[in-house]
Amino acid sequence: MSLRQRLAKVERVLAERKRKVDLADCRCGKPVITLAGQAKELEAELNGTCPTHGFLRVGTVIHLGAGELPEDPESVKEERRREAAEISQIIGQYNERKRDWMRQQSVRRKLSLEIEDGSSEA
Ligand SMILES: [Zn+2]
Repeated sequence: MSLRQRLAKVERVLAERKRKVDLADCRCGKPVITLAGQAKELEAELNGTCPTHGFLRVGTVIHLGAGELPEDPESVKEERRREAAEISQIIGQYNERKRDWMRQQSVRRKLSLEIEDGSSEA
C-alpha cells in the first residue's frame, strides 16, 4: 500500500468517525407540518440548516390548508388560493435548492474518489 493510499485510508477512517459524531446533531428527515396561514413559517423552516449537512433535507412536507367551502365568500376563496399558490412556490424553490445541493454533493463525492484512487493524476 502506497503512502498516498494509507493516508487516504486514515482520512476515510477519521471522516467516518467525525460523521458519526456529527450525525447526532442532524436535523434532516423530519416531517414539516404547516397549517393554513403559515406560509412564512414554512418558508423559514425550509430555509433552515442542518448542523451536520449544511443543507437541511426535510422529510415529507404536510400542508394542512383550511380548505374551501362553496359558501365561503369570494374573498376567502381568493385568499386560500393565493396561499396554496404561495406554498407550492415555496416548496418548488426548496426542491430546486435541494437538487442543486445533491448535484454538488455527487460532484464532490466523484472528485474525492478520483483523488483517492489517483485517477486525477496525469
Ligand atoms: Zn442533516
